[in-house]
Amino acid sequence: MTDLASPPEADFGNPPKLFDGTADLDLTPETADLQYWFDTVPQRTLRGHLLGHAPDVRPTEVVRRPGPLHDALTREVSFRVFAEARTARALGHALLLAPTPATFEFYATQVIDEARHTKAFRQHLVELGIAPDRVEATAEELAGADRDAILIPLEDFVIPVVRDEQDFVAGILLLTILVEGVLAPSFELSERKWRPFDPALADIETGAGIDEVRHLAVGGRIVRDHVAAHPEDVDRLADLVKRGMALMFSLPVLDQLQRWEALFQQGLEQHADLVGDYEIWDGRRLVDTTPDERVQKTFELTGLIHATRLTGMGLGSALG
Ligand code: FE
Ligand code: FE
Repeated sequence: MTDLASPPEADFGNPPKLFDGTADLDLTPETADLQYWFDTVPQRTLRGHLLGHAPDVRPTEVVRRPGPLHDALTREVSFRVFAEARTARALGHALLLAPTPATFEFYATQVIDEARHTKAFRQHLVELGIAPDRVEATAEELAGADRDAILIPLEDFVIPVVRDEQDFVAGILLLTILVEGVLAPSFELSERKWRPFDPALADIETGAGIDEVRHLAVGGRIVRDHVAAHPEDVDRLADLVKRGMALMFSLPVLDQLQRWEALFQQGLEQHADLVGDYEIWDGRRLVDTTPDERVQKTFELTGLIHATRLTGMGLGSALG
C-alpha cells in the first residue's frame, strides 16, 4: 500500500542519491501509483514549484554573463532539454503497451515527470539570459549535434522495440538501463559541480534526481519480476542489453563530457573565489578536481550503477 504518511525518498531536503549505490527503493508499479505521485511529487519533491526551484533561488551572475561558465552551462542545459524531451516521447510508446492499470498509471506519471524536466531546463535557458523566443534555436545550435550523435542512435535502437515489436518488458529494460541508467549519473555530477555557480540549476537537478531514482526503482522491479517469472527470457534480454551497451560505448559521450569539462575548468579557474572549500564529493574540494577526474568519476559511477542494477534484475549475465 502507498504510505501516505511520509515516504522519505520524495523529500527534497534529504534526497536519495544515485551516487550512494543506487538507493534501491522498494517501489512497485502498484505502490508507485497516481496517488503516490500526487502525494509525493507536487508538494514534497517540487514543494509547489513546477520548474523545480524556488523563485528566489537564482543562478549567479558569472553563469549569466558571457564566458566559459555560461558556455559550458548552456551546452549542458540544452542537451538536457533534448534528452528529457526524447525520453518523454520514448516512454509514450511504452505507456501505450502498459499491460496493467498499475503500470499504466506509473508510466503516465513518468511521462509527465520527463515533460516537466524538459520544461524546467528549457525555462532555465531563459534564466541564464537566453531570450525566450531564441530558446529552441539556441538549444539547437549548442546541442543539436550532440543530440544527433548520441540521443538519436540510442533512440533508433530503443524505439523499434516498443513501437514496432511492442515488447513492453524489453522496452522498459532498455529505457531503464540504457537511457536513464547511463545518462543519470552525469546529471548527478552536474548537480554537484554547478551548485556553487547556479543553485537554481542544482535544485532542478536534485528534484529530477529524486524522480530518476523512482523511475529506475520501478523499471528495475518490472524487469526483475518478469525475469523471475520467465527464466527462459534471460538470455534474450541479456543479449539485448549487451548490444545496447556496445552501441552506447560507440557513441561520442566521452568526447562530449570532455568538451563540457574543459569549458567548466576554464571558468572554475577564473572564479575559484566563488567556490571556496565547497566539496564536490566528500573530502574532495571542487577547486582541486581536474576535468579528467570528473569525467572518470562519472564513468565509474555509471559502471557501478549499471552493474548493480543489472544484477538486481537477474540479468548479471549481460555484464560478462
Ligand atoms: Fe528526466
Ligand atoms: Fe526519468
